[in-house]
Amino acid sequence: MAILCRVQTGGCGGLGASAVIRRPLVLGRAAYRCYRLLRDQRRSPEAVRALQSQRLRAIVRHAYERTEFYRERFDAAGITPADIREPADLSGLPITGREDLRSPNSLIARGRAPDRLKRSVTSGSSGRRTTTYFDEDAWLVGKYLIKLRARLACGVRPWDRIALFQEEVLQEHRPPIGARIRAFSIHRPIEDVVSQAEAFNPQVLYGFPGYLARLAEIAHGRLAPRLVFTSGELLDEVTRRRIEAALGTRVLDVYGCTEVKEIAWQCPWSEAYHLNADWLVLEALPGQPGTGRRGGTLLVTSLFNYAMPLLRYALGDTGEILEQACPCGRGLPLVRPTLGRSVDYLVLADGAMIPPYALTCAIEHFQGMRQYQIVQTALDRVEVRVVPLVDFDDSTRLGIQQSLRPVLHGLTAEVRVVDEIPPEASGKYRIVKSLVPEGGRAAGPQARRPGGPPSGR
Ligand SMILES: [Zn+2]
Repeated sequence: MAILCRVQTGGCGGLGASAVIRRPLVLGRAAYRCYRLLRDQRRSPEAVRALQSQRLRAIVRHAYERTEFYRERFDAAGITPADIREPADLSGLPITGREDLRSPNSLIARGRAPDRLKRSVTSGSSGRRTTTYFDEDAWLVGKYLIKLRARLACGVRPWDRIALFQEEVLQEHRPPIGARIRAFSIHRPIEDVVSQAEAFNPQVLYGFPGYLARLAEIAHGRLAPRLVFTSGELLDEVTRRRIEAALGTRVLDVYGCTEVKEIAWQCPWSEAYHLNADWLVLEALPGQPGTGRRGGTLLVTSLFNYAMPLLRYALGDTGEILEQACPCGRGLPLVRPTLGRSVDYLVLADGAMIPPYALTCAIEHFQGMRQYQIVQTALDRVEVRVVPLVDFDDSTRLGIQQSLRPVLHGLTAEVRVVDEIPPEASGKYRIVKSLVPEGGRAAGPQARRPGGPPSGR
């Protein structure tokens, strides 16, 4: 549930790396990192594991020595960095949760000034906003190069025209002449987006599955991409088939989160996902018996972010670590995230489809909310359920309503204070939820495919 990010910059962002790698020093480091990434994916599984363990030992030592948070955690658990030699040893360490990121200062390594670091902000599908900080090298690896490697492996070519459908777009109205990567805002009327995208004639599409399904059907043959990537939401089988049928090409899904960026990506040679194991550790804690869920709770450890180390970070998803090798020959192990985050698109009485991100972006900056959930209870009725903090008051309530009104086409949302927001039967929180029956609205990415992949970014 670490997704639902405010800025969906897209996993094709790696191909835009040249725009930020202009300084010679950074260029040199980027070239070396890129060479290592491309080489390391082809190493044997044993060699990848050895590299992973080596990097794990280094970041664990750094986390203990340089952050107040992990120093206290290790000491309380009675362990030292020397006790963690390989991923299996992480089990002795407590889990880091989203709550721990609410006050990130104790997680930022000493000597790193937050105002000089890159940052990623998420609202999270639990309705809790968090900020993660990255140093320049971590940003380069996580934000660009790991994604670049995966997209190249899936057949994206550096000269392809790539359309990103995302939340925030800085350059939509003035794309550079000859730009190969163009971002389109999902908050604009979808017919306009289809027309603009048609003029751009992209060979690669990247976006949220629920949005791409709708876009593909409205485009009705006017878009003919060679490759389609989804991320950021659960990709259920129905949505996958809708996109594939409308665009006539296969969909490849990407799993990741704002806090550590891309975690795993679907390989054209397999239904499963390659884990970026040279720079991440993924654990699947065994699930509770009798829940009917496959796999275990997923925890991720980033091996590249020395500005704000995250060890055993709970992603809020479940999944499996697979034993088999991929026919493509890469040494990166295969995983299958089985239950992902889930959001609904709202359809109002006037037929407008409201992306969930438009709603969360409109209100997540309000203080005074411990947690929230936006629920459509009828075609003309939307409710914001808020678990308040002490500073939640009538002005916040009014502010929420005013911020949502334009997004909801003039409809006034009710704000209701509640003691708690219970998770779904699956154990997941759904931050935007529609109770309007199917048929009364667009099919959102809410159904789950048993054993099938979720998505992320
Ligand atoms: Zn593969």
